Amino acid sequence: MATAKAGGTPHHHKMVIVGGGTGGLQLATRLGRKLGKKGQVEITLIEASPTHIWKPLLHEVAAGTLDSYEDEIEYLAQAAWSHFRYRLGRMEALDRQQREISVAPTYNEKGEEIIPRRHFHYDTLVMAVGSVSNDFGIPGVRSHCFFLDTTQQAADFQRQLIESYVRAHARGKPLARGELNVAIVGGGATGVELAAQLHTVSRLFTAYGLEVKPADIKLSIIEAAPRLLSGLPSRIAEPTERQLRQLGIEILANERVIEVTEKGIHTHSGRFIPARIKVWAAGVKAPDFLKALAGLETNPRHQLVVRPTLQTSRDDHIFALGDCAACPWIGHEGTVPPRAQAAQQQARFLYQNIRNQLAGKPLRDYHYRDYGSLVSLGRYSTVGNLMGTITGSFLIEGWIARLVYLSLYKRHQIVLFGPFRTAMLTLSHLFHRSVHPQVKLH
Ligand SMILES: Cc1cc2nc3c(=O)[nH]c(=O)nc-3n(C[C@H](O)[C@H](O)[C@H](O)COP(=O)(O)OP(=O)(O)OC[C@H]3O[C@@H](n4cnc5c(N)ncnc54)[C@H](O)[C@@H]3O)c2cc1C
Repeated sequence: MATAKAGGTPHHHKMVIVGGGTGGLQLATRLGRKLGKKGQVEITLIEASPTHIWKPLLHEVAAGTLDSYEDEIEYLAQAAWSHFRYRLGRMEALDRQQREISVAPTYNEKGEEIIPRRHFHYDTLVMAVGSVSNDFGIPGVRSHCFFLDTTQQAADFQRQLIESYVRAHARGKPLARGELNVAIVGGGATGVELAAQLHTVSRLFTAYGLEVKPADIKLSIIEAAPRLLSGLPSRIAEPTERQLRQLGIEILANERVIEVTEKGIHTHSGRFIPARIKVWAAGVKAPDFLKALAGLETNPRHQLVVRPTLQTSRDDHIFALGDCAACPWIGHEGTVPPRAQAAQQQARFLYQNIRNQLAGKPLRDYHYRDYGSLVSLGRYSTVGNLMGTITGSFLIEGWIARLVYLSLYKRHQIVLFGPFRTAMLTLSHLFHRSVHPQVKLH
């Protein structure tokens, strides 16, 4: 809101949102279109990357079934269309007394500085920096595993996969042990979905002429819990596990990883899983820089502790949402889970709460609504549970489940682009797919 300063110059309320992912970009877009457009509030989005891709698509980018260029959004354009400012850079420090954040310099690929260190003043700050993979300090994980935290990491994995196939195909002789094996650590939804995508991709490579003997390829999922999808009901986990085994995917449950080497993975039971390509998808934590951020309260996973209003526990002017926030799950034990649906709900909720705060109205409490969880095994099946208001949790499968699964992304696009442009994008995506290979081949 514009208020008159002592000298008579109007002071625009400065809102800084850090992190333009699932939650942060939705919030910036909603606020920009409502308050930024009228010039009532100056909204700045600070984001470490120049483009946005919806994070739950990253396993498809990694498998090569989705070309990231097809689905990425240019922040600069989105900001211009939605009346907020976008500034490229990685936040690294906070000064709560001065109400100022500092953003590290940005360098190009040659190591030349293209943007110097900058400071941004805020009246309201929203932290939406998401999460990163948690390696739990296990030796070798950082240096030998791929992660699926960023588009770049997913693309690096895809490049390594295709290189291994091309090399094996060109050599035309028996491969080194484990050369084409992919071991995925973590049997949650990400690991399971990636395994199914990789199975599809290995068949597509063969169809496009990159022939390798099926016996030379092995996909394994290593999980410390007694079964896959331990956070979901067994009636979803069991058929999923059955289907993966039918596809020939090895499932190693009750196996805790103790070390990762270049050649493979060692587990606590003494087992060694040979694999040249290893993916770590075994849980998340908030980024490390939050751990000691100007005295804000954090939990052991470095998430910022927030009240049900989404204000941080020690500062009314700082909010947090999505994976980086430890938000009480009202009516349940524990905190709201790190999911896209939670980040999307919180962005919608915070849009209203921030408007209430600016209008001097009381803030509301956020109630997480769990709509259920779906697991997509790509072209093979989709299965999950939906939460009905009266019926409680019920199982869905097949194309209905697939449609519900896809609808979460469509809802994200509708917030960012509106229904008409989303429909156009969906059509152009379908056309693109009908004239291009089903998998990225370079
Ligand atoms: C492969 C995969 C599949 C998934 N599938 C599902 C699914 O099917 N359903 C589901 O509900 N959830 C799924 N998730 C989880 C879901 O993606 C996250 O819960 C959701 O994206 C969290 O949203 P967010 O806004 O909190 O963070 P994010 O979407 O992760 O966005 C955080 C943003 O902050 C930026 N950032 C980070 N640090 C800084 C900094 N210091 N300065 C500036 N910018 C910074 C990042 O670049 C990023 O753009 C999946 C996750 C992965 C990795």
